[in-house]
Amino acid sequence: MRIYLDNAATTPLDPEVFSAMTPYLLNHFGNPSSHHAQGRQAKSAIEDSRAAIASLLNALPEEIIFTSGGTEADNTAILSAVYGQGIDHVITTRFEHHAVLHTLIALQAQGKIKISFIEHDEQGNLDLEHLAFLLQTHGRSLVSVMHANNEVGNLNDIETIGRICQTYNALFHSDTVQTMGHHRFDLQKLNIHFLAASAHKFHGPKGVGFVYVRKGVKTTQLIHGGGQEGKLRAGTENIPGIVGLAKALQLAYQYLDEHQHHIQKLKQYTIERLLADVPGITFNGNSAIAHKSLYTVLNASFAVEGYAQNLLQRLDEQHISVSGGSACSTGASSHVLSALDAPTNRQHIRFSFSKFNTQNEIDQVMQILTQLYQSIAA
Ligand code: PLP
Repeated sequence: MRIYLDNAATTPLDPEVFSAMTPYLLNHFGNPSSHHAQGRQAKSAIEDSRAAIASLLNALPEEIIFTSGGTEADNTAILSAVYGQGIDHVITTRFEHHAVLHTLIALQAQGKIKISFIEHDEQGNLDLEHLAFLLQTHGRSLVSVMHANNEVGNLNDIETIGRICQTYNALFHSDTVQTMGHHRFDLQKLNIHFLAASAHKFHGPKGVGFVYVRKGVKTTQLIHGGGQEGKLRAGTENIPGIVGLAKALQLAYQYLDEHQHHIQKLKQYTIERLLADVPGITFNGNSAIAHKSLYTVLNASFAVEGYAQNLLQRLDEQHISVSGGSACSTGASSHVLSALDAPTNRQHIRFSFSKFNTQNEIDQVMQILTQLYQSIAA
């Protein structure tokens, strides 16, 4: 049996989510744009899902727009700010996912925007005074700051950032792909204009997510065609995916406290075992600081000079799935670890946990890891 500790890359589908989706794969296959009973049934499945998600986040149903996942949600938010709101200056961080960074870099290359980066310290903590300075010294801007980083787990204070954006009349987008379903949101209280989420990060299906767009914020249509999703996103909707997304989010929030407690304990246990058993272990960013990092992510740094690929590969051979960084940048060096100046002669491993992991699995991983590590380091 494999041990799966790569939940920041993707999570296994919850069987209850699968059960909720099955009728929409097998029986209720109508096209929601059709006017007959089967079409109407499909349409109400979408609208019920939208209302359920909105109510969990204290948002309005019309503020939730379904997308093909987190990447499209981030793109929609950024392009809406640029084309829908005329924004030509974007303030962001060096730690954003490529769904944000590559979108911004492409816009900058087309001459549409200028990008400014918020300064940070060696742990990756953002300098919010610098954010205020950037806002003071530029015209109306979009601020794009992720809630939790997918590689090291650093949490950003989106409440305070939202208040700073409000002071300077800036638009605020947050990539909440790693925290949605793992953290409670009250969107009436947060000054946030756009938020991106993806179902497969909280035991929902892949290929579906949503962008939250605050009521009154002008958007721009990225995918042209039919009038689906309030004319923002054309194409026949992914009904089983949307139903699965809503079910996954509902389950995530129903059991959030219980699962958070369980996962936090596993993460803490892993930290303690690594510190006790692996000489020279350190942690990247704020990964090992409970209140400054997401409880599902731990990024450990092993002093194994010259064996960079070995440890990861050998864990894989021992049926353990972990990752060296973001799943989306396989093969490339991590821009997040580079921004943190993480040493290149150490092996950095991301352990990311879910409600399905157990302490027994961590014990097995630690046993294999310490044996491997000793054999490599010898
Ligand atoms: N943003 C973050 C922080 C992520 O971790 C990911 C996925 O790894 C994405 C965006 C992209 O989401 P999706 O895979 O649904 O396109």
